[in-house]
Amino acid sequence: MNPLVTQNIDDLHERAGSMNVIHMHGELLKARCVACNRLTLWRRDISAADACPACGRANALRPHIVWFGEMPLYLKEIFAALNEADMFVSIGTSGSVYPAAGFVAEARALGIRTFEINLERSDNADEFDETRYGRASEAVPDWVAEILMSS
Ligand SMILES: [Zn+2]
Repeated sequence: MNPLVTQNIDDLHERAGSMNVIHMHGELLKARCVACNRLTLWRRDISAADACPACGRANALRPHIVWFGEMPLYLKEIFAALNEADMFVSIGTSGSVYPAAGFVAEARALGIRTFEINLERSDNADEFDETRYGRASEAVPDWVAEILMSS
């Protein structure tokens, strides 16, 4: 199953039933150990005294969030998925933050049909094969119905 790549750090996609979600900017409800790199579900504040549940080291946990200036996560997996995709859909993003804003150009270079669904034109709207605008809660189901009818 192709992944759903999101810049969101909340778990709304999972709570809505989405499968194979890639959180390129991390996840608010997880802690990452800088010593062993393991992820742990974490729903409270992190303190220096907290030990990593995996390796036991204290003062090694940090939020599993990409801060400004850090590289987004899972880019290798995202570009691998782009290479296997036959459709690229960008939903609800400004198209101004890279590397995510560059995914459409990568998709086009691979010959993949590209769609933008957004509240308003994104900064890179001209790079998409098709665009449509409206609330995601309405525009996405309409688009999906059209895709299903045409396939
Ligand atoms: Zn650890």
